[in-house]
Amino acid sequence: MPADEPTEPAGVLRRPRADAEGPGPRPPAAPTGARVRQTHDAFFAETCRALGYDDTTHELLLLASREISAEVPLRRDDGSVAVFRAYRVQHHNARGPYKGGLRYHPDVDLDEVRGLACLMTLKTALVDIGFGGAKGGIDCDPTTLSRRELEALTRRFVQKLHRVLGPNLDIAAPDMGTDEQVMAWIHDEYAKIYGFAPAVVTGKPVPIGGSRGRVDATGLGLALVVEQVAADRGLPVTGATVAVQGFGNVGAHAALHLQRRGARVVAVSDREGGVIDTEGLDVEALVHRPGGLRGAAEPITNDELLALDVDWLVPAATGGVIDDENADAVRAGVVVEGANAPVTADADALLTARGVLVVPDILANAGGVIVSHAEWIQNLQQLRWSLDEVQDHLRSTLGTATEQVLARASAEGISWRSAAYRIATERVHEAFFLGGF
Ligand code: NAD
Repeated sequence: MPADEPTEPAGVLRRPRADAEGPGPRPPAAPTGARVRQTHDAFFAETCRALGYDDTTHELLLLASREISAEVPLRRDDGSVAVFRAYRVQHHNARGPYKGGLRYHPDVDLDEVRGLACLMTLKTALVDIGFGGAKGGIDCDPTTLSRRELEALTRRFVQKLHRVLGPNLDIAAPDMGTDEQVMAWIHDEYAKIYGFAPAVVTGKPVPIGGSRGRVDATGLGLALVVEQVAADRGLPVTGATVAVQGFGNVGAHAALHLQRRGARVVAVSDREGGVIDTEGLDVEALVHRPGGLRGAAEPITNDELLALDVDWLVPAATGGVIDDENADAVRAGVVVEGANAPVTADADALLTARGVLVVPDILANAGGVIVSHAEWIQNLQQLRWSLDEVQDHLRSTLGTATEQVLARASAEGISWRSAAYRIATERVHEAFFLGGF
């Protein structure tokens, strides 16, 4: 039988089974996409009310320009066929081409992608770069897929969606469950159809047009925001205690950069749990540890980590991890949202009422998209920036946005999140109505 001929229906799975053979166990269920979307929608509705926008304007700014969903079949290594669902939501492009990450996680759904796409529009507006907002994902569990399966799935995704992607149309980037390699496959598959067009995707490996400094940009950006916020509030970073949930791209780099600034990282975790050392963990050693976090120090659960009495708590794993059920257990002084929407709207109100400060995601994790924008510029201009140039650009762009958020919050007596949302929403509103429709 030719390799690409379908197998009998009995071999067709919606998703790999939990007991499918693969390199790692299936992660525990993450909060649903509906929760992430509700969180964002609640913050956005409050912002539109505060800015005096009518219901129609609110809807026009909230709803996506275009939503795509597609079935993506994959021939598994065992010969069976799994069918995944892929999504791309293009929220707004009034300020520049659609831009946003691509997430591989079993819980990806349209609701989550919608919420995250709108969040992306606000993030690019807040840091004032010429991009709009988008998000995409496939409801697969990459830890149960072989490398060949991951590559085939990614290439099939591009074959299905290439007409709505492009350097001046919609630019993808890594997110949870995807990395430089996945971006390299997207770049290659797209080039087969349209020719060399590296600006179609950011977060690529440097040898094929990636930017220096992109891999750790989100974590470095988070550390820079923490420094600036700390200076504004008269809080220390040197010697301050930090706990980080999620030891992937964002969490591990944030922990590294905070430790390099003298902070004491006492706990980190991944989806299977974490480790704690009140004297401070050696983050650099943990990043390179072959066995991962397990056995590196005293074990700690993710719930325990979120309740640690630390100066800075960085949820950098996934959405909705701090909700109305565990918000009262949070004892950190400041929560810095490394992940997108890790604090639900209800939890945000509970934290604020207790005087816990929250640095919002659209500021705290915007370093990645700033350097993605720098990568896109380099690709379009066929230039290479040095690491110093990239990091200077990151510092000044994020520094300006942080300054504006702190100033607006203080002038209007509102939270950093409300200030960030208001600044960003006003910019999108202005561009949208200038263009007209
Ligand atoms: P990643 O896949 O590299 O890492 C995710 C980490 O979180 C892993 O350590 C994983 O084990 C852990 N994790 C997953 N589910 C968990 C759970 N339920 N409980 C505890 N730990 C869990 O992903 P990433 O790129 O670091 O992204 C993390 C978050 O940051 C996502 O919300 C993403 O949207 C957001 N973000 C990423 C970037 C970026 O540049 N990569 C930029 C902005 C925002």
